[in-house]
Amino acid sequence: MEISLKYFGYFDSETIKPTFDPGVNVNCPICNKRLQRPIQTISFLCKAKSYFYRIHKKCANLESEQKIESMIVDLLNSESN
Ligand SMILES: [Zn+2]
Repeated sequence: MEISLKYFGYFDSETIKPTFDPGVNVNCPICNKRLQRPIQTISFLCKAKSYFYRIHKKCANLESEQKIESMIVDLLNSESN
C-alpha cells in the first residue's frame, strides 16, 4: 500500500465541485495499480474537510479503508505541524 496525497481529492466547503479532484488516472491506493472500472469512491472527514479517493470495487474492504484513512490523517497532521 502506497499513500500519496495526490490520490486524494477534497472539498473545502459544502460545495458540489471538489476543490481538488485527482481524477481517475491515478492508482488505486489499496493495490497500487492504475484505476479501472468498476470504481468505488470512498469519502471521509478530516479536519473539517471532506476527502475522497477512488479504489477498484474489487479492492474495497473496511480494514484497508480504515488503514488508508488513518495514514492520511497522519499525513495531514504532519503537514500542518
Ligand atoms: Zn485496487
